[in-house]
Amino acid sequence: MSTEGTGSTGSTEGAAGAEGAATAERLKGLAVTVAGLGISGVPAAKVLHSFGAHVTVVNGTAGDRQRAEAAELEALGVTVRLGDGDTLPAGTELVVTTPGWKPGSPLFAAAAAAGVEIWGDVELAWRLRGSRPGQPVAPWLAVTGTNGKTTTTRMLAAILAAAGLRTAAVGNIGVSLLDAVLGEHQDGPYDVLAVELSSYQLHWAPSVRPHSAAVLNLAPDHLDWHGSMAAYAADKGRIYHGNQVACVYNTADPETERLVREADVEEGCRAIGFTLNAPRPSEFGVVDGILVDRAFVEDRRNNAQELAEAGDVNPPAPHNIANALAAAALARAYGVPPAAVREGLRAFRPDAHRIAEVAVVDGITYVDDSKATNTHATEASLAAYDPIVWIAGGLAKGATFDELVTRSAGRLRGAVLIGADRALIAEALARHAPQVPVVELDRTDTGAMAAAVSAARDLARPGDTVLLAPACASMDMFTNYNERGDAFADAVRDLTARPSADGPPRP
Ligand code: ADP
Repeated sequence: MSTEGTGSTGSTEGAAGAEGAATAERLKGLAVTVAGLGISGVPAAKVLHSFGAHVTVVNGTAGDRQRAEAAELEALGVTVRLGDGDTLPAGTELVVTTPGWKPGSPLFAAAAAAGVEIWGDVELAWRLRGSRPGQPVAPWLAVTGTNGKTTTTRMLAAILAAAGLRTAAVGNIGVSLLDAVLGEHQDGPYDVLAVELSSYQLHWAPSVRPHSAAVLNLAPDHLDWHGSMAAYAADKGRIYHGNQVACVYNTADPETERLVREADVEEGCRAIGFTLNAPRPSEFGVVDGILVDRAFVEDRRNNAQELAEAGDVNPPAPHNIANALAAAALARAYGVPPAAVREGLRAFRPDAHRIAEVAVVDGITYVDDSKATNTHATEASLAAYDPIVWIAGGLAKGATFDELVTRSAGRLRGAVLIGADRALIAEALARHAPQVPVVELDRTDTGAMAAAVSAARDLARPGDTVLLAPACASMDMFTNYNERGDAFADAVRDLTARPSADGPPRP
């Protein structure tokens, strides 16, 4: 692959092999406590065990799932202690934690008091890179942000794959990070990994040094875990630590740029902005509907490289164009040619429940963005359509809705509110958008979503979009956002089977 005029595949990866071998050596016979079972804890325990560590897994709860996971691990020779997640097992020499555990957990306080190191599952994966003799080490292109991580990481993997690279979207999605670091792509060793990292994971990953990384945006979220916005931002900012080629930031979100300025990076690493406007030098942006690179080109003062058209991005909503630009910036930093950006973006399909168009019924488009579980995501979603009948509500997690409603009021044909905290949204609408008709539903049974869709249909006119973008978590009424989105899609499909109550489409 040519790297001329673009970023680089630049590498300090040789050192990783030596570090991996040293970690493997250290783990032999080491007493390691794994904090938590589940999708991170079980694989971490297995991997540690396979490297010869004496593993004890602790987990506070002891339900059916935990018992089944414990039995699986115990069959391998791993010790599992259910029902007490607070006490540090005697003799522990290293703690490996899963992302859900809060930094203030008594187990960590005990570890700190005993001088025992704490690694997250991502730190473990990073330290094990190159631990298998002769195995090449794939650099990481890393993505974090309050919203858009999964989408951007998947777009990035699609672009890298279109460039013929052996890659995968890993982290919270797709292949597990440990599997990717210790395993192979079906066609051979990985060349490069597209890694999604959450703020929780970054908190416990002090040695991770991505080739290049992006922080997409920063809005208050998960503050109960981090303790404060400053602590949350600082954890997100760790993703830039040790970057070699590019720190990618959002020009519309000055906080992301501040994190770049504060980062301790490798000599020569560049700050690369992305913007929905025309780009300045060292930025990616949009000119007349074309996504362009004005960073990894010859003579960037006078030149820009066309990458793709906005229509190549699926869906072409503004925030998703921003995600595509961030993915393109990371891929170009790695040296991917422009044509692969277009091809990768065209091949990309969004995950379910992220601005997924379900159907057009009687000229009304129904869109499922159940994954919009906070106000920041919902604002992006509402900005993508006009006019909208908005279905929202659920668990507000301490959020307020005044700003969201103020900024989006002009696009709202109506609103249908469901869930435990619907009154908070209703009050914000009454304060800032009294002209918008609102239907509040107090049902929480399985038919509630169908009632919401039906009420939305009654408010909508042909050409409108009915958008499920709840700005809230789903657990008051549903198991998760997937189930909520499925309920919406089922209700919409039922509409296609039933004519509207008053016969033909309304004017
Ligand atoms: P994450 O992995 O960070 O949760 P996703 O890609 O799964 O992000 O998207 C989650 C939700 O956030 C989507 O449903 C969409 O509404 C919203 N979203 C996606 N990208 C952005 C963005 N760049 N800015 C704001 N909101 C976004």
